Amino acid sequence: MRYSQILIPTLKEVPAEAEVISHQLMLRAGFIKKLTSGVYTYMPYGLAAIRRVENIVREEMNRAGAQELSMPMVQPADLWQESGRYEKYGPELLRFRDRHERQSCLGPTHEEVITDIARKELHSYRDLPVNLYQIQTKFRDEIRPRFGLMRGREFIMKDAYSFDVDDEAAEVSYRKMFDAYNRIFQRCGLEFRCVQADSGAIGGSFSHEFMVLADTGEDTIAVCNDCSWAANLEKAEVKLAEPGDSVEQQPMVKVETPGKRKVNSVCEFLAIKPDQLVKTLVYLADDEPVAVLLRGDCELEEVKLKNYLGVTEIRPADDKEIYDATGVPSGYLGPVGIRIRLLADQEVTQMVNLTVGANEKNHHLQNVNQGRDFEVREIADFRRLTTADPCPSCGGTIRLVEGIEVGHIFKLGTSYSESMKAFYQDRDGNGRPLVMGCYGIGVSRVVAAAIEQNHDAHGIIFPAPLAPYQVTVLNLDLNDNEVSAAAEKIYIQLNEAGFDAFIDDRDERPGSKFKDADLLGFPYRITVGKRFKENSMVEVRRREDGTTEDVGIEDVVSYISSKIAN
Ligand code: ATP
Ligand code: MG
Repeated sequence: MRYSQILIPTLKEVPAEAEVISHQLMLRAGFIKKLTSGVYTYMPYGLAAIRRVENIVREEMNRAGAQELSMPMVQPADLWQESGRYEKYGPELLRFRDRHERQSCLGPTHEEVITDIARKELHSYRDLPVNLYQIQTKFRDEIRPRFGLMRGREFIMKDAYSFDVDDEAAEVSYRKMFDAYNRIFQRCGLEFRCVQADSGAIGGSFSHEFMVLADTGEDTIAVCNDCSWAANLEKAEVKLAEPGDSVEQQPMVKVETPGKRKVNSVCEFLAIKPDQLVKTLVYLADDEPVAVLLRGDCELEEVKLKNYLGVTEIRPADDKEIYDATGVPSGYLGPVGIRIRLLADQEVTQMVNLTVGANEKNHHLQNVNQGRDFEVREIADFRRLTTADPCPSCGGTIRLVEGIEVGHIFKLGTSYSESMKAFYQDRDGNGRPLVMGCYGIGVSRVVAAAIEQNHDAHGIIFPAPLAPYQVTVLNLDLNDNEVSAAAEKIYIQLNEAGFDAFIDDRDERPGSKFKDADLLGFPYRITVGKRFKENSMVEVRRREDGTTEDVGIEDVVSYISSKIAN
């Protein structure tokens, strides 16, 4: 590609609207142009990077035996009503009516459409297993589109769906995708981790997320220092410690705690430690109030609570909502005699002689014991893992790192096939629901994540497999025939050797050619300047570490071939 023939609208200044580095660099390097909130045009250079990711994804999906198709973006609402997600999906699903008043939506994902295909086309165990995928534009009306391609409203996703006869077969399909995803992100040249996500909240289902490690990740991942265990913090399981020696239960007492509403102030006032107190948090779960008991020094993990309750939305209740629901001013709530649905974090059930709110203003109760003074039947792991907790797998120590979710694989089970009646006939002629899996990769997000992970003060440092062009040739003197001829020759030879080469043939000063080469992130840069006339050597520079080498013009292609695969 010739710089003189490609539209790369670079920017000198850092655009004010871009908060994260990948967004800034994508705008500066002319990858994308914003049309409206969360909606971007992929300009030629940006699209070329996206195509790189798509090609790797496509090759590995095909290799794993999946078949490519392309489903419509506009979907009829009836399908979503059948699966029960039309109401449940929330405002991220963009709904509209067509001229015949038919309700429709823009596809944020395609489980409904693919299940409709499966129920019509997959009739017998002989048709299975099948894995179908597409690489396509998705629309999600995200509440906070941000960071450019990282969280757009319109974005490119690879989504695949597997259909199997039973759980065991579905796990084989899942494993194939698991392996394919590992290969994909390895081939992209990214540092990533595969983490376990939701472990079994819905019957027979489990999932993994693939996270690119970067300082600005939106997700926090808990990683074990001693074994390969890693989990999204939102879902990282807290292992319950072995119960300690049994402690005698003391008689319950009510104490006055005037104006003491916060854990710390109550503890200070009563001279106890926060891990002896149990706080009672009130949440609105799809507008229904629930109370959760949690050890005083711990934080609630809202995703765990949301998954346990199986609701669409949860949020902490405010003081007025707490009072309306319980009749108790916030800060004095406790489990004894509470009027709303009560849940407890598993750790609370191991504690004795608790300090809790008395459900009465300015009062707390001490030496409260579960079973004797209150009952709680809904007990689960609701708290957030910390670095003080042991690894749930090996007992080792935990560290927290930031990551960007680029892929998500999910063993769905039969939830869609049952609600949408996608049945096949088994060997004995019995109708059985198809067992499904779904597998997503945020293709456009991968490009953003790659830049987030690989850049410096001068610009992008593309991993060679994702670079739109692996090597750029800088012609530093367009008016010098010898220099120009040499630059052209190298450019043509590189292309003939199978590289995607780029040549900066613009009539620009050397300084701006160097700057743009760094900004655009070509893994290798070959400079052809006046010096070439003295010794027939050109300078080859590696973007990653800035190292340079002088190479004879005849040896350039073999030199580059020894460095990167074409
Ligand atoms: P997130 O938690 O980041 O919103 P998700 O769990 O909603 O992601 P999935 O439904 O699993 O995402 O979608 C599959 C993949 O699509 C994700 O792993 C992610 O890489 C990508 N993706 C999801 N939402 C967006 C978005 N708004 N912009 C760009 N990529 C996205
Ligand atoms: Mg999302």
